[in-house]
Amino acid sequence: MSAEEKTASIVGAGIAGMSLALHLARRGWKVRVYEQEYPGFSASGRSAGIIVTIFEEDLLRLALESVNFYNSLPEAEGRISRRKAAYFNEKFECLDRLSRIHESLGLEFRYCLSEEDLGVPFETLGHPTAVIETFILDTGWAVNALQSALAGLGVEIVNTRVEARGGRLVAGGDPLEGVIVLAAGPWTPVLLKDLGYDNVVRDKYQLYRCQIASVEGPTPRLVIEDDALDYYLVPVSPSRFNIGDGPNTPIQDPYEGFHYDLEDSYSVLERFAERVPSAWESRLIQAWSAPCITGSDGLPIIDEIDKGLIVFTGLDGAGMSLAPALAGLLAESLDRGEWLLPSWSRVSGKPRSSGVREPYYIEC
Ligand SMILES: Cc1cc2nc3c(=O)[nH]c(=O)nc-3n(C[C@H](O)[C@H](O)[C@H](O)COP(=O)(O)OP(=O)(O)OC[C@H]3O[C@@H](n4cnc5c(N)ncnc54)[C@H](O)[C@@H]3O)c2cc1C
Repeated sequence: MSAEEKTASIVGAGIAGMSLALHLARRGWKVRVYEQEYPGFSASGRSAGIIVTIFEEDLLRLALESVNFYNSLPEAEGRISRRKAAYFNEKFECLDRLSRIHESLGLEFRYCLSEEDLGVPFETLGHPTAVIETFILDTGWAVNALQSALAGLGVEIVNTRVEARGGRLVAGGDPLEGVIVLAAGPWTPVLLKDLGYDNVVRDKYQLYRCQIASVEGPTPRLVIEDDALDYYLVPVSPSRFNIGDGPNTPIQDPYEGFHYDLEDSYSVLERFAERVPSAWESRLIQAWSAPCITGSDGLPIIDEIDKGLIVFTGLDGAGMSLAPALAGLLAESLDRGEWLLPSWSRVSGKPRSSGVREPYYIEC
């Protein structure tokens, strides 16, 4: 590809759009990012910041690659920390499988969580337990650091809403230039529909609300990933933690994703209190939410759906973990003119598993 052809317009300044812009700019591309609100306005600025490590090996490799990417950003020191997590699952086979995956990639894994590890008394409820490794990202820093890194390479983030007009994408009346990447999160299907690609993508996506709450009370020492009772928890200070997950309520319009439901947060807190009875003494301080989007098999969708028009979305509740690494593969593919992304991320790709599943379920 000649230097003049290396031009990209990216719609969306979330983690997907900004990390792709940086990967391309580092390869010498001329890149412009369009954002309707401000960088990190939606899910990317509101996430819990867990770099998920409960993945099959291929996805875990991507998550570890994303950790390297965050570490390459300005002033990364202390902003992405390696942390221990308490892991609960209903099935012993799942722990066994995860232990093999973690050991093969050099992550520590230890069966049996003790009260001393967690720092608060807990009930196993008959569920097998382990202490695993994960990473916690300072999400606000990541959004700011990406903006600084992009500015340093001359990438402009234009504060404009991109619209489809007469089958083309325009910003402020001007057509977008070069390769166009739709990294517009849950707004991506809207743009595709307006462009006339509804038949290509219909039934490929689901939108839902991702919600989290900040809670004051007895706080565990470890991150908790409880796949048996379905919640996660991130300690933020000795007496404050963030807790999330819940019914993943489906939504039709992306903006519905910002209407959080306090009942959902209380029900998550009650599930945690089944595990850690001292949580009954805690107080919910604040809740927030944003729209999330997932592919119909629970995995991201990254595909060229027409010449020079690429979709990069469907990152579910794991975009902070996967987007930077997937963006690296996409940038390399565009630079080399050779598609390097896994086949499951194509619109017509064979589903990796049946039914909608969050990607961070391992096959066990
Ligand atoms: C409460 C919560 C907790 C989460 N916790 C975690 C976690 O612990 N770990 C993890 O890995 N992931 C987590 N996630 C998921 C993660 O945040 C998302 O997967 C990720 O942010 C998606 O990034 P994105 O760039 O694809 O989309 P978005 O962040 O939605 O960004 C899309 C951007 O496109 C812009 N846009 C849309 N349409 C247009 C248009 N027409 N013109 C211009 N701009 C447009 C939007 O304004 C938006 O800024 C969480 C999400 C939430 C909400």
